[in-house]
Amino acid sequence: MPLDEKVFLKRLEEKKLTLKNLIVSAKNSTEVVELDQTKIGRLSRMDAIQRQSMAIEMERRREVDLRRIEAAIERLKSGDFGCCITCDEEIPLKRLEFDPACTTCVACAK
Ligand SMILES: [Zn+2]
Repeated sequence: MPLDEKVFLKRLEEKKLTLKNLIVSAKNSTEVVELDQTKIGRLSRMDAIQRQSMAIEMERRREVDLRRIEAAIERLKSGDFGCCITCDEEIPLKRLEFDPACTTCVACAK
């Protein structure tokens, strides 16, 4: 089944840009929390630490996402895009439209 590689490339590049911006702004806000820890009370410090660990977890997920997207862009360029990395079958278009960075067909994802 032919898929429109240009459409996927555009979507992936947009996602990549959005994620990169989010990662940059998250890094800035993480630094702010660290600097403020000496100035604030115990409860709000705990709150700040909790918020910071949530921010770190969020950031970790974003970086995983970013790597998936970059890998998908590489696959588009090399012509492997849309093929399952496990069984080499075509990934259904609907699945790719839902998540352009997915690397496996439905059966192999399980
Ligand atoms: Zn497969």
